[in-house]
Amino acid sequence: MWIKGKIYLRGLEEACVSFDRRIKEIRKECRPDLKLPSDSYVFPAGVDMHVHLRGLELSYKETIASGTSEAVYGGIGVVVDMPNTVPIINSVETIRLRLSELGNYSRCDYGIYSGVTQDKGVAKMPIAGFKVFPEDLERDIQWILESPMVKVLHPEIPMSLRPGRHNRRLWQELASLYLVRGNFHVTHTTSLDTIKLAKRMGFSTDFTPHHLLVPGETDCLSKVNPPIRGKSERNSLLIALTEADAVASDHAPHSVKEKSFPIELCPPGIAAVSFTLPFIFTLALRGAITLGRAVELISTNPSRILGIPAGEIAVGNLANFVIIRRERWRYSTTFSKMTHTPLDGFPLDATVYATIVEGKVAYQDGNVFPVRGSNVFDKSGRT
Ligand SMILES: [Zn+2]
Repeated sequence: MWIKGKIYLRGLEEACVSFDRRIKEIRKECRPDLKLPSDSYVFPAGVDMHVHLRGLELSYKETIASGTSEAVYGGIGVVVDMPNTVPIINSVETIRLRLSELGNYSRCDYGIYSGVTQDKGVAKMPIAGFKVFPEDLERDIQWILESPMVKVLHPEIPMSLRPGRHNRRLWQELASLYLVRGNFHVTHTTSLDTIKLAKRMGFSTDFTPHHLLVPGETDCLSKVNPPIRGKSERNSLLIALTEADAVASDHAPHSVKEKSFPIELCPPGIAAVSFTLPFIFTLALRGAITLGRAVELISTNPSRILGIPAGEIAVGNLANFVIIRRERWRYSTTFSKMTHTPLDGFPLDATVYATIVEGKVAYQDGNVFPVRGSNVFDKSGRT
């Protein structure tokens, strides 16, 4: 299949791309099967390296189908899921269970992290890597620390998890970085200081839009881990747009009932997997960052950190595209079970018109389609 239009290669160019599940050929001229509208632009689909799709016994919060529908509605082609489900994903058996659930229901490509474990068989499984909390380091996980696989660090030291939100200070985030070495990626950094320190220590970083935009932790909807910081840290995080490697959503839905508990009791988490890509492209359309930087943050860099063939429109890569139009709208979730977020109503200029996953239309103009994504970490597999 050939498409023709304004396509992001080294910049936006009038070009033709041929693809099936992978990108086969790129050239200047062709007779297209699908000519795109003149006001649309084709970019590599987003890669979100930090989501909680729930499912399994937590399906009352979100299902794989509802979470990945929300992802493709937001232009995301690959999601990488965290292991804190019920049951927790940290054994060969639970990894098989989780991959089978994702294989049946995911509407975009996917990967999973394992929690830390003594089950060394998990390293031979087709996973993205490991999620590590600093308190995990109190156990014997040397073999994981030495593994070449990527480890995603939740940067808060154990004492910050004790009751009392006021305990969760920024220095605890910084301190946690000194506990690890090796192939680590520091996720949801909340300040420029964390990003700078992580860089000095050779780690890659991401930040979330909510740590940048939500004006303080005021209710259950804005309660999140790590917490939303004060105004000066939030303002400093603006520099993350040029300094961080990637942006991630940390999509973490809970049921309406759970989020209606008093703030001391309600579970932390904001569900906005569909916000990240339109937000980053909105910044580019408004001239705050370049288009190239937007593509790096949302697609190219997360793909490079994860080592997957995505994130760039290049021959041999997955045929995962997002088609964007410049159109003003106000954000809300649409397919997620989580219907309220603190980002609701945020004005955006970039609209996702369609998302293509491995050559198939997964989302277009308000509709999701039952496309089946695949495990991008399965080297033996179908793709
Ligand atoms: Zn998370």
